[in-house]
Amino acid sequence: MTATLLQLASSHSVGFVLTSLVICLVAGWLLGKLMGRVADAKPARRPQWLAGTAIVAGLGVWTTHFIAMLGYRPDMMLSYDGLTTTVSAVVAVLAVGVPLAVTPLLASWRWRAVLGAVAGLGVGAMHYSGMMALEGCLQTHSPVAAGLAALIGSFLLALASGLPSRIATPRVVCGLFTLAVCGAHFTGIAGTNLETIAGQGILAHENVTLSVITAVGAAVLFLGAFLTILTAQRFEAQERAHSAVLSTALHNMSNGLAFIDAEQRLGLFNRRFLEICKLPTDGLRAGMSRLEFIDALDGANGWDAERRAKIEKLIAHWSTMVEEEAVEHVTADGRTIEVTCRHVEAGGVVLTFDDVTKDRAAQSRIAELAFLDPLTKLANRRAFNARMERDFHPKQRFKLLLIDLDRFKPVNDTYGHGVGDLLLVQVAERLAAIAGTDGAAARLGGDEFAVLAYGDLYQATDVAERILEAMSRPFEIGDIKVSIGCSIGMCCTDDAKDPAELMQLSDIALYEAKRGGRARASCYTRGMFEAVSERVQLETDMRTAIERGEIHLAYQPVLALADDRVIGYEALIRWDHPQLGSVSPARFIPLAEETGQIVEIGAWVLREACRQAAELADDAYVAVNVSPVQFRSPLLLSHLTQALSSSGLPARRLEIELTETAIVEDGPKIAEMLGAIRRLGVSVAMDDFGTGYSSLSHLRDFPLDRIKVDRSFVATAETDRHSMAVLEGITHIAKKLDIAILAEGVETTSQLELLRDIGCDAIQGYLVGRPERMSQDDNLRLSA
Ligand code: C2E
Ligand code: CA
Ligand code: CA
Repeated sequence: MTATLLQLASSHSVGFVLTSLVICLVAGWLLGKLMGRVADAKPARRPQWLAGTAIVAGLGVWTTHFIAMLGYRPDMMLSYDGLTTTVSAVVAVLAVGVPLAVTPLLASWRWRAVLGAVAGLGVGAMHYSGMMALEGCLQTHSPVAAGLAALIGSFLLALASGLPSRIATPRVVCGLFTLAVCGAHFTGIAGTNLETIAGQGILAHENVTLSVITAVGAAVLFLGAFLTILTAQRFEAQERAHSAVLSTALHNMSNGLAFIDAEQRLGLFNRRFLEICKLPTDGLRAGMSRLEFIDALDGANGWDAERRAKIEKLIAHWSTMVEEEAVEHVTADGRTIEVTCRHVEAGGVVLTFDDVTKDRAAQSRIAELAFLDPLTKLANRRAFNARMERDFHPKQRFKLLLIDLDRFKPVNDTYGHGVGDLLLVQVAERLAAIAGTDGAAARLGGDEFAVLAYGDLYQATDVAERILEAMSRPFEIGDIKVSIGCSIGMCCTDDAKDPAELMQLSDIALYEAKRGGRARASCYTRGMFEAVSERVQLETDMRTAIERGEIHLAYQPVLALADDRVIGYEALIRWDHPQLGSVSPARFIPLAEETGQIVEIGAWVLREACRQAAELADDAYVAVNVSPVQFRSPLLLSHLTQALSSSGLPARRLEIELTETAIVEDGPKIAEMLGAIRRLGVSVAMDDFGTGYSSLSHLRDFPLDRIKVDRSFVATAETDRHSMAVLEGITHIAKKLDIAILAEGVETTSQLELLRDIGCDAIQGYLVGRPERMSQDDNLRLSA
C-alpha cells in the first residue's frame, strides 16, 4: 500500500495534480451556485439552467480527470483516441451532470440522495471510459480499487445532494464534490497499472496537443461560466436591493395596493391592503385565484350572501377594467373606500384602495354646516329654498307654512339668550315631528320657522292646526316653564308662480294672521296681496305724513240745547294724501293703532288741538279722541300735560273722548288712570255709547263727565220705538248720575226738537256744522 502511494505520488507531476484540484474546486463552486439557480428559476427559464448545470458538472469531472492524467506517468508517452475521449465527455455530462442538476427540483431527500449516488457511479463510468481512450499502453485495473472509487464517489455525492439546503450551502457542495471526484479518481488510479507496448512508445504529438487543447477549452468554458455567474450575482444583488426598496415603499404606502394578473390571480399586495380588508398579515398569498382571494376576504369579514355576491361582481368588474376608473365603495362596517383601477399593459390590473371615510365625513360636515341651522339642526334658509326649488313643479302640490313665534322676545329678554336658544331647539323638535319624513321643517332665522306640507288643502290645514296646538303647549326648560304660541301664514303652490313668490304670499298671509290677533293660521287668498301692499304703503306714508304737513285737524261744533250756544268743538283728524287724496280716519286710525303709531299721532293731535283752542277768543272746550292703544300707553299723561303747558290752554277746556273698548279690561288700573286725568282738570267723555259693550256698570264704576250717544240711535229714533226708548233711558240715567248727555249725528231739525224734548244737554251733527278747518274768520265769528 505504502509502495503504491509512493508510486502514485512520484508518478503524478505535482503541478498537474494541483491544477486538476483547482479545476475541480471551481467546478464544485459553480455547481453549488448553479444548483441554487435551478431551484429558484422560473419554469420557463429552468431548462437552460438545468443544461448549464449538467454541462458544468460533467465537464468539471471530465477536465479534472484529463488534467490529472497529464501529470500521470510522465515517463510514458501516452496518447488518446479522439472519439473515445469525446464519448467520455458525453458520459460525464449525462451520467454525472444531469443527475446532479436535477436534484434541486426534488422535494424528497431520499430521491435526491439516490440521484447523488447515481452521479457518483457516473464519476466512475467517466473515469473508466476516459481510461479507455488511452493509447499506446497496456492497462490493468484492480476491481477492488474500482469498486472503492465508485463507493467513495457515490457516497459523497449522495451526501452533497441529500443534505437539506440550509446545510448543503454552495461551499459544502463544492467541498463534497471535489472530495468525491478527486477521491474516486485517485482511488481508481491507485488500482491501475500501465505498461508500455514494445515499439509503440512513440508519442502521437497531435493527440497530446488535442488533449491539451481540450483541457484548455474546458478551462475557458469554466472561466466563462464563472464570470457569467459572477455577473449574474452582481445583477442579483442589485435587483435584490432594488426590490428591497420597492417592497419597503410598497408596504409603507398609505394606500392599499393589489395586482390582479391576466390569469385573474392575486399577483402582489401590500400591508395596507390587508389592513383595509381587515385581514391578518398571513391572510393572503400571491398566486391565489380570484375565488380563493374572495373566500379569504369573506372569512375575515363575515359577509352575508348578498354582500358577497356584490363584492364578487365588483371584483370581476374591476379586474377586467381597461380604462382607468375610480369608484367609491362603502364597506359593510360603513367605511368609504375609494378604489382606483389601472390597467397594466402586460395584462392584469392594479387596484389601489384609499380609505376616504374621514375625508367624506369632513365633506359632509362642511355640507352640513352650509345647509343646517347650527342651533336647531333643522335645514337653514338656503337648504329650504333649494328644497322648494327642487319640488316646485306642476305635478307637485304643496303648501308653505311660515311660522312666527308669538311672545318669543319677552322670553329671551326675561330669561336670557341661553333659555331662548333652548326654547328654539324644543320648538324645532316639535316642528320636525309634525313635518315628519315626508314634509320638511326649517329655521329661517331668529324665531321664524317654515314647514312644507305636501298633499291637499285639508292636510295642510291639519298640519297648521297641529303646529298651533304644539306651540301653545307650555315648554319646560330646566325649572322654567314658558308659554308662547305662534302665528302661521300659508300659501299653496297653485297661487304662486315660483318659490320666491310662494314665500312672499305666505309672508302676507302671516302678516294677516298676526294682524288678526296672532295664535292663528291664515291662508293666502286672492286680493290679500293688494290689500296688504296698500296697507303697507299707507303705513309707510303715515310715518312721514305729519312732518310733510299732510295732516291737519277739522273741528265740529257742539251746541248746548239750554241756550243754543256753541260750547265746544270736537277735533277730528284729516289726512290729505298726495296720491290717494283725503284718507278717512276710519281707514288709517285702526292701522296706526296696529302699528303703535297712534301714540305719536295722538300726541300731535293733542298738541295741535290745544294750540288752536288756546287761540280761540271764547272759552269753548276742545274734545280730542283718544284711542284705546293710546289710553293704555304710559306716555298719555305726559302728552296731556305737555300739550296743556305748551299751549297754555286751561285744563278745564280740554276733554278727551274714549270708547268703551278703552276701558273694558283691568278695571282698577283704568279707574286709576281716569282719576289721574281728571285730577289734571281734563274732563272725560264716553264716545259712541250704545254701540260697544254699553255696560251700565261702566257708568257706575268710572268717573265720567259726558256721555256721547252714538248717531245710530239719533238716526233711527223717529222711526224705531226701541231706539227712542234707549235714548230716553240713557238720558234719564245720565241725569241721575249727574253726567252731561250729548247726541251725535243730528242732521235734521225734527231730530233736534225730539232731543230737546227728552232733555238732552247738547248735540253735534251736520245740522249744527260739519267738521271744518279752523280759520281766522271762524275765530272772529265765534268771538262775536
Ligand atoms: P267719532 O269720534 O264718532 O267722530 C264723529 C264722526 O262722525 C266723524 O267722522 C264726523 O265727521 C262724523 N259726523 C259728524 N256729524 C255727522 C252727521 O251729522 N252725520 C254723519 N253721518 N256723520 C257725522 P270722521 O271725522 O270720519 O271720524 C271717524 C272716526 O275716526 C271718529 O269717530 C273717531 O273715532 C276717529 N277719529 C277721528 N279723529 C281722530 C283722532 O284725532 N284721534 C283718534 N284716536 N280717533 C279719531
Ligand atoms: Ca268722537
Ligand atoms: Ca262718536
